[in-house]
Amino acid sequence: MIQVSSSNGNSGVPESRFDQVAVDLIAKAVQMGASGAAVIAVDRIVIEDGLASLCREPRCENFGLSASCPPHVPGPARFKQWMQASKGAVFFKIEVPSDSLFSDDRREIMGLLHDIAAQIEQHAIERGYSNSKAFAGGSCKMIFCREQSNCAVLANEKCRNPAIARPSMSGFGVNVGKLIEASGWGNGDLQSGGAVRHGSFVALYGLVLIG
Ligand code: SF4
Repeated sequence: MIQVSSSNGNSGVPESRFDQVAVDLIAKAVQMGASGAAVIAVDRIVIEDGLASLCREPRCENFGLSASCPPHVPGPARFKQWMQASKGAVFFKIEVPSDSLFSDDRREIMGLLHDIAAQIEQHAIERGYSNSKAFAGGSCKMIFCREQSNCAVLANEKCRNPAIARPSMSGFGVNVGKLIEASGWGNGDLQSGGAVRHGSFVALYGLVLIG
């Protein structure tokens, strides 16, 4: 199902040029394979320290494995600073059959999530929003560098996948449930890792701050 939403009307997001760029970014997300995308006012993004701390306790199996996950990311405090410097955000989802997320297709699906986030970010940067930042879900170590012994960045080398790998929202305490609400996408059964089950489908989410 393709669902495209523009702003939820609450906005605080400046009109005119940003609105035009936002429409382009939503179209880009859908073109890339997103099932839906929405413009979110930054004041609708809820950040909770407690959510970020769940990566450490109970410890996520990917904790510390990459530069994109805690304790190697700057966390909620820095995210709030980025929010304050942003004009708005694009929140998007991809919906896939639940079974596929537990099959050999999982890495490809998670890779698509990161790729869409990174492409939206790049698109925004090319349109003058040079401080835009994309966030996805899951560990880039498990998705892109699973066969590698380590994360290159943590070994003081360049990331092997800079064009597509993005940090997970989890490590910054992003409340995905509140974003789903703000997007008008209803509710579902929120799973660990920020996925939401809708019957036999699962939705995965990404967020791009546009600034
Ligand atoms: S090198 Fe691999 S594990 Fe490290 S940040 Fe890049 S994609 Fe992630």
